[in-house]
Amino acid sequence: MSEPASIEPAGERTDVDVVVIGGGVNGSGVARDCTQRGLRVAVFERNDVAFGASGNNSGMIHGGPRYLTYDPDVTYTSCLDSGHIQRIAPHLLFRIPFLMPVHRDRRGAKVALTLLDAFFDLYDKYQPLKRGKPHTVLTAEQLQQLEPGLAGMTVGGVSFDEWGIDGVRLCIGNLVDAAEGGAEVRVHTTVTEIVRRDDGRVRGVRYRDLSTGESGVRTAKIVVNATGAWAPLTATLGGLLPESARVRPGKGIHVFFDRRLTNYAIAVRAIDGRQVFLEPWQNMSVIGTTDTDYYGDLDDVVATTAEVRYLVQAVARVFPAILDARPIGTWAGVRPTLYAWGPSPDGLSREHEVIDHERHGAPGLYSMIGGKLASYRIFAEEMTDAIAQRLGLRVASRTHVVPLPGGDELLDPLALAADAGIEPIAGARLEYRHGARALRVVERIARDRREGAVLCPCEPVLEAEVRYVVRHEWAQTVDDVSRRTRLGLGSCGGMRCAARCGAIVAEMTGRSPLDGQRMALDFLESSARKRLGAVGPLQARQEALALATVRAELGSSRSVERPSGDLGPLGLGPRSAERSAEERSAEERSVAE
Ligand SMILES: Cc1cc2nc3c(=O)[nH]c(=O)nc-3n(C[C@H](O)[C@H](O)[C@H](O)COP(=O)(O)OP(=O)(O)OC[C@H]3O[C@@H](n4cnc5c(N)ncnc54)[C@H](O)[C@@H]3O)c2cc1C
Repeated sequence: MSEPASIEPAGERTDVDVVVIGGGVNGSGVARDCTQRGLRVAVFERNDVAFGASGNNSGMIHGGPRYLTYDPDVTYTSCLDSGHIQRIAPHLLFRIPFLMPVHRDRRGAKVALTLLDAFFDLYDKYQPLKRGKPHTVLTAEQLQQLEPGLAGMTVGGVSFDEWGIDGVRLCIGNLVDAAEGGAEVRVHTTVTEIVRRDDGRVRGVRYRDLSTGESGVRTAKIVVNATGAWAPLTATLGGLLPESARVRPGKGIHVFFDRRLTNYAIAVRAIDGRQVFLEPWQNMSVIGTTDTDYYGDLDDVVATTAEVRYLVQAVARVFPAILDARPIGTWAGVRPTLYAWGPSPDGLSREHEVIDHERHGAPGLYSMIGGKLASYRIFAEEMTDAIAQRLGLRVASRTHVVPLPGGDELLDPLALAADAGIEPIAGARLEYRHGARALRVVERIARDRREGAVLCPCEPVLEAEVRYVVRHEWAQTVDDVSRRTRLGLGSCGGMRCAARCGAIVAEMTGRSPLDGQRMALDFLESSARKRLGAVGPLQARQEALALATVRAELGSSRSVERPSGDLGPLGLGPRSAERSAEERSAEERSVAE
């Protein structure tokens, strides 16, 4: 890589060149591009990586056929970048073939099918950009054959092709790459002020680590506000008006079920005519999504029962088996959609925008708003181009050709599993999440067989992976581990793995076993709360009772030595803490040997 031309204005020294606020996909993408171009970067994330929209979306790296009607540029950019993302992270993408049935009871059903065919002819022109297959018109019989669970008389339908992704892993890949290129990455660290000079230029940020309480300042030439739906609030930290980075926050929820119910995603119309879907996503089924204006707390976004019912009702109309399926959780996120007064949230543009706050009297401060997961890399490139121009740096982006960590080689998951002595399914899930870097995880097992133990049987997640993400991917809590590995997101809801995970995280981060138990309980309580809208009242009451009992026990424990009995089924309580202490000393012995 060539040297940056003149990034230091005469006589000025700053800690870094660029501070990025926000560890979602846009912040991670910018951090990666900047470090690849030789800039010194620091990233601050208030919660955890992908805590916001980037970890709570529909998980599709798609072109969004519906945007073709009012935002064709968005479809083009998304398909183009989808092709790039496939090249740099081939392990993370999986094909999702869609079926779109046309029901006989719809007015002008046959004409609607002909129009759909013509519409998808147009969409097909974009498919080569993302290695997608062209659409097919299907008869009613063919539809039924492909998906026997479809109910209602149809006149046929169409199939079209999309790609799924784990948005959290995409963010982690970008940040790991940035960190390996020299970036400083801080999670659970909120920016409390964007510091400016007397003449208005940015000088850096003031931050506070929410885990330790430590605060400090990082000086920089450029500050990028990549805080998604938080962007207007973040702008005020620099003394600007919230309108200077205005978004129209749109809440979207998903409900997930304990297994794959179909081999195809099914696009259906909800009661208000909106399009929603049922999709097989990783090892579960997901229904989504809603889009409603959101005015609540961005750090606490949870699906409501009403939102869950709206989606279940829509899907049940064409796929009744959803009513017998077992919902095990929900996730919810807020889109940082570009502001407009008037259109319904669904009708808002999904375009992205780089705002140069020089026009608001704050040179060196930028905001990134809008956009999509599917086009994050292009957005990040545009942002970095603007930074490079301001700093007089002439280095072009290479993020579309340089693989993300683990994306350089596709491993054979079965061979990986056989070599590591783990179950094939564990090998496949590991390879999916880490690509070629799965080898680094299994190397841990070669050094210590005990790390081959399955911690979370639903996914399954190995102890080695938990330790790996704590060591190399900034996981500091059970919740963080879950986000990176999907631990505790299966049908047991963490009841079988959170305690052990908490013990490991506490031990690796120098905290007490009691802290580990509290982390586990925090995770269980938060998952139960997210499940509330989807499970019946009976299950909700039982979960609440069990967790409240444990909370009361832990709350009154002053130290782990205090005897208060084993808290049984959840594996939380002094005995499990002692167990982890024993294991820890065994491990230390083995490391010393
Ligand atoms: C329901 C839903 C479905 C979607 N489906 C798709 C899809 O299928 N395909 C697609 O391409 N796109 C989809 N999107 C859009 C996509 O997810 C978003 O455009 C994208 O994730 C936005 O990323 P971001 O980095 O801008 O914001 P975010 O991911 O929200 O990240 C912002 C981050 O900033 C942090 N932050 C806030 N304030 C501070 C502070 N003071 N200091 C430090 N950090 C701070 C937050 O904690 C957060 O992690 C969907 C979005 C939603 C909500």
